Amino acid sequence: MPAIPGRSCGSCTLCCQVLVIEELEKDAGTLCKNCSVGGGCKIYNKRPEVCRDFECEWLTERDVPQVLFPDRHGTLLMIDADSEEYLAVCDPKKPAAWRNPLMLKHLIAKAKEGEVVVAKSGTQAWRIYPNGQIAPWA
Ligand code: SF4
Ligand code: SF4
Repeated sequence: MPAIPGRSCGSCTLCCQVLVIEELEKDAGTLCKNCSVGGGCKIYNKRPEVCRDFECEWLTERDVPQVLFPDRHGTLLMIDADSEEYLAVCDPKKPAAWRNPLMLKHLIAKAKEGEVVVAKSGTQAWRIYPNGQIAPWA
């Protein structure tokens, strides 16, 4: 899906940090060894297919407010390819970013649309329900 006009990754490298990338034997939460913060991907032309294909929700979905830019806000929004859960994955340096009122409002709205919404911070996860209830999630 094309990026929304006016939105680009720019300074952001959050997905290069928080996601597991099996092709690179990269764990969740560890910055990819090919990532130059502020300089982008050092193997851009040879990066794995999974990196070429990935686009977060902020980049492509108009219902995600502009101010929730992942690099500034500290939360990566994405659909899990396997579980189809709507994920809010926190920057390890901002473990409570998903509880920000504007982010929480967005997550509850997605739950009301019928998404299974899950916030993740390190090894912890919470399900966010349409009525605003939050509960630990396995
Ligand atoms: S988290 Fe989104 S905005 Fe940030 S680098 Fe990844 S795709 Fe781009
Ligand atoms: S290979 Fe490049 S695009 Fe992929 S995670 Fe590493 S730095 Fe990011």
